[in-house]
Amino acid sequence: MRQARRESAARTYARSLPIVPVRARGMTVEGADGTRYLDCLSGAGTLALGHNHPVVLEAIRGVLDAEAPLHVLDLATPVKDRFVEALFDTLPPEFARDARIQFCGPAGTDGVEAALKLVRTATGRRGVLAFTGAYHGMTAGALAVSGDTAIREAIGPGADEVTRLPYPHAYRCPFGAGGAEGARLAARYTETLLDDPSGGVAAPAAMILEVVQGEGGVVPAPDGWMREMRRITDERGIPLVVDEVQTGLGRTGAFWAVEHSGVVPDVMVISKAVGGSLPLAVVVYRGDLDRWWPGAHAGTFRGNQLAMAAGTATIGFIRENRLDEHAARLGARLTAGLRELMAAHDEIGDVRGRGLMIGVEIVDPHAAVGRDGVLPPAPELAAAVRAEALDRGLIVELGGRHGTVVRLLPPLTMTESQADAVLQRLADAVPAAIA
Ligand code: PMP
Repeated sequence: MRQARRESAARTYARSLPIVPVRARGMTVEGADGTRYLDCLSGAGTLALGHNHPVVLEAIRGVLDAEAPLHVLDLATPVKDRFVEALFDTLPPEFARDARIQFCGPAGTDGVEAALKLVRTATGRRGVLAFTGAYHGMTAGALAVSGDTAIREAIGPGADEVTRLPYPHAYRCPFGAGGAEGARLAARYTETLLDDPSGGVAAPAAMILEVVQGEGGVVPAPDGWMREMRRITDERGIPLVVDEVQTGLGRTGAFWAVEHSGVVPDVMVISKAVGGSLPLAVVVYRGDLDRWWPGAHAGTFRGNQLAMAAGTATIGFIRENRLDEHAARLGARLTAGLRELMAAHDEIGDVRGRGLMIGVEIVDPHAAVGRDGVLPPAPELAAAVRAEALDRGLIVELGGRHGTVVRLLPPLTMTESQADAVLQRLADAVPAAIA
């Protein structure tokens, strides 16, 4: 495509997935050359109902046909009213009771910026506790709390107010212990650091975390660790910000990923699926943190009526059809199939995830086991798996610290036979990549 020559050197997906999508429905994407693909990327986890779902299209057409104003800044509208009501109805009741919502816009990273600003305003403190492997976005504040050292370097000062703690990675455990024991050690480490007056931690305005790290390589935090983080932040009066940008709206097998552990956050950042495939981000937070004054947080594009209508329809469809439970079931089916594949190939080091957020870590079986007790990551092989999958009509992306985790983020509307087709294509792609 001519356009590629004009695009920034930073372009990513266009490089790794050299296709030109022209039509899409559900889980299927059609390229300009007529090739059809099964989409397990779903706009980086955005398309909960797949592409162009009829209820989403109908909602968008409804706004257009009514000639409702498309641009309203943050004025009240019936479309917005319905969206807020539908969203609040999904939130954990203890959280929803007294929560406020701030429209941010239009991306997940904007929601994270707003959340950081909110907690700093509310507490008068500046430090933030964040985690290794985290991904919260690409704007300066969100990048400061993200894990990727090389990309973060570009923002200069800002990241110095962030204390990074080890995320409980059961496979590549920072303490080499893995599982519940690794999570327990990670919690102890956090507590020790915070308690030690020489620990070098600036008074924290917040702790920010993902319940399942997505870009970081599909790493689910154990429920026990989540509860420990809640206890630790509660005891110290530190607001807990949960970034549900990727995990929200049923993706992990519960409507919100925090529900697995029962943890009630102080602040939730919500984006991706909540806009029903259109850009929308909100931050929802405990009412007493609302120390903002009129205009303290603003932005021109906070009232996307099409996104709110599409989001309301998406929320409704997920709830009516119990797609969170469907995601849990299909996730278990996919995971079981992938574990069989892992048993047959030493190049698959780990299969993990929650619901329809699944990661397959590609390793080098010919290398020596590393300090973390597992085989080292194999970036070239992982890229080959992605390419072989694409050749077989399957769109997957890579993630993780070394870009070696094949990420499966299919729409929650995926059928059993589509799940089996995904498995078959991967079962063909992996040996082809190894050969
Ligand atoms: N938080 C998480 C957990 C994410 O996965 C992402 C995007 N992958 C973001 C924030 C940033 O969202 P956006 O790309 O829309 O800015």
